Amino acid sequence: MNPTQEISAAQLQQLLLAYRQFVEQELFPKDLDVVKGPFKSYLPALKALREKAKSLGLFAPHLAKDEGGLGLNLVQFAQVSEILGQSPIGHYVFNCNAPDIGNMELLHQFGSEEQKEKWLGPLQRGEIRSCFAMTEPQLPGSNPVHMATTATRDGEEYVIQGHKWFTTAADGAQFTIVMAVTNPDASSPYQKASMILLPLDTPGYTLVRNISIMGEAGEDYLSHAEVKFEQCRVPVSHRIGLEGQGFALAQERLGPGRIHHCMRWIGICERAFDMLCRRALSRELEVGKALADKQTIQNWIAESRAEIKASRLMVLDTAQKMQEHGAKAVKEDISTIKFFVADVLMKVIDRAIQVHGALGITDDTLLSFWYRHERGARIYDGPDEVHKSALARSILKNYGSK
Ligand SMILES: Cc1cc2nc3c(=O)[nH]c(=O)nc-3n(C[C@H](O)[C@H](O)[C@H](O)COP(=O)(O)OP(=O)(O)OC[C@H]3O[C@@H](n4cnc5c(N)ncnc54)[C@H](O)[C@@H]3O)c2cc1C
Repeated sequence: MNPTQEISAAQLQQLLLAYRQFVEQELFPKDLDVVKGPFKSYLPALKALREKAKSLGLFAPHLAKDEGGLGLNLVQFAQVSEILGQSPIGHYVFNCNAPDIGNMELLHQFGSEEQKEKWLGPLQRGEIRSCFAMTEPQLPGSNPVHMATTATRDGEEYVIQGHKWFTTAADGAQFTIVMAVTNPDASSPYQKASMILLPLDTPGYTLVRNISIMGEAGEDYLSHAEVKFEQCRVPVSHRIGLEGQGFALAQERLGPGRIHHCMRWIGICERAFDMLCRRALSRELEVGKALADKQTIQNWIAESRAEIKASRLMVLDTAQKMQEHGAKAVKEDISTIKFFVADVLMKVIDRAIQVHGALGITDDTLLSFWYRHERGARIYDGPDEVHKSALARSILKNYGSK
């Protein structure tokens, strides 16, 4: 996960080219069928793609070389992430998809040796998947300290009781990291919860359903589950980090995670933009007169290009600063890119749909998949309003506000 070896600018360009070729040649021809599903029926084909990525030395680009990866730093990985984001199966095939990548980073930094050997190793090698269970249906996820799930100590075990939802990719995962209250009497609400690793074959765990998202429940990696923990018992050694440290660890997990999401969104923007341009040129409103001749369409093309470019520069700038000064130092920048790029993503997808006319809302192109599933970008990892408010308050402090 930490770079073990610097790579030169020329080597990076070569790598980016290799990723681009793989994504365009191997993933573009298949990804629409895979997202139409059923996803599980494509698992053997996806496994073969993962093997091919491994044989080309492109698998798990975020990992250190001695962990089977490429030893890329955050700025370099961000550029790979944009390319992978152009296909909805890109990050999955290269084993750097959320929520696994966040869990890998967490276990790498804070896991015990036993946790690393039993869970992190297989996760890094792409042998198993994982999920992350923090949000609860009855309480606001945007204020997660308000949490009902408990992990009560009973001798050398925790007994976990709770109800979570939007546990992304729980279907088919081997373990989850659960956020649960372990220290209800702690003086600070931020010190009440811990992260606990729970194997999903633990008695008392139930996957209630894959939640239908605008008419589509999906399955496996492409799903979000409602789950219940009823008197689930795990050894105390399954806790990650210290008791009461859950929110501090969650912050560590979210910083780079937002960079990864933003660059993936820029990849989606680029593919949707490409579809928009091609359709604008090929669709003739009358013989010899393409849609692209209309100024409104030209405006959308120009505005989309400018917004995508601005997004990329902002995210890479934030990644560079985070790499140099750590996640805490770039809190304002992280909030800025989170709501800004999510908004650009919505606009570009919507414009691409509009240019495609009725075709745009069918499932014959990827646009409807993104429209359904990327709407969440403005909600997860902090809703827009929370980031805007945090940014504004931070700015106002410079003007004397407390
Ligand atoms: C696609 C997707 C994947 C997800 N994956 C996971 C996962 O793997 N694991 C997990 O634990 N959770 C996951 N989540 C849940 C996500 O973290 C929560 O949805 C998010 O934290 C918001 O919580 P909420 O849905 O309870 O909304 P609420 O907290 O109820 O907020 C509702 C709305 O209120 C507004 N609001 C909230 N706070 C403020 C404020 N301070 N000022 C002004 N307005 C405000 C916002 O508009 C917000 O959208 C996922 C969500 C989505 C959509």
